[in-house]
Amino acid sequence: MHGMSDNAAFRRCLICSAVEQIDGERVWPPGWLCPACGHVFPQADGVPLFAPELADSISGFDPKAFEYLAEHEPGHFWFVARNLLLVGLADKFFPHARRFLEIGCGTGFVLRDFARSRRWERLVGSELHPAGLAHARQRLPSEVEFVQMDARDIPAVGAFDLTGAFDVIEHIADDEAVLRALRSATETGGGTIIAVPQHQWLWSRADEVAHHERRYGRGELEAKLRRNGFDILFSSSFTALLLPLMAASRLVARRRSADEDAYEFGLSSAANRVLLAILRAEVRLTLAGVSWPAGGSRVVVGRAA
Ligand SMILES: [Zn+2]
Repeated sequence: MHGMSDNAAFRRCLICSAVEQIDGERVWPPGWLCPACGHVFPQADGVPLFAPELADSISGFDPKAFEYLAEHEPGHFWFVARNLLLVGLADKFFPHARRFLEIGCGTGFVLRDFARSRRWERLVGSELHPAGLAHARQRLPSEVEFVQMDARDIPAVGAFDLTGAFDVIEHIADDEAVLRALRSATETGGGTIIAVPQHQWLWSRADEVAHHERRYGRGELEAKLRRNGFDILFSSSFTALLLPLMAASRLVARRRSADEDAYEFGLSSAANRVLLAILRAEVRLTLAGVSWPAGGSRVVVGRAA
């Protein structure tokens, strides 16, 4: 694994496609000027804007949901357990990674736990919707970079040895464009971790409220990763042990609000504790190598081939 960081890393101009070597400083300095074509990329509050025309549009995600998420993620069994799984997989498969990019970092709830998990040389969170980044800023140390971009067109080549998109690409019609862009941004030998909702038969109003394009079928995410330059190191379901509950909840009529539907937040704290205990046990087994065949989400670890 050593020596990976010796590979050259580049930022890439979205206007003229010229690349410029990154030399220890930020991946994308705010107000970056492309030396090849002279284009100056706009920025706001120190956040480079690579797709300002898409910012805070309701394309794939309603920015108003960030407020709700920021308030409800901490302590919520699903988000807490998912963080344990994602950080655990990064530690298990890419213990030497030092440069991490999270696509669709939202309010920074996942990035915060990555930040705490090891010493990073570069930690970058990207979002299409800068509304989430205000929360992320507050949660994370000042050296963490934030950037607004379209994940289908990441202005970097080999700049990261670990990348991730956690419940993001199901919002995007051309999800393979995102995987292709992630492969380009990840150096060869580096890794990516992708989480998506699974099983079309679990499709519910929650998916519509959340602006999902799809839930993933068996083998779909793995095939898409392979097609776009990744080898599969590990693949498992997440929330496998809650699948009977999830299936049952879709069979009964509900009178909950749209937001509760979207994130299944309509829970008592006792129920939350029980579900968290179940998922902690599941995550422990997953990190020990158990690959669950079915569950609400699919998590795949790939290596940039
Ligand atoms: Zn240029």
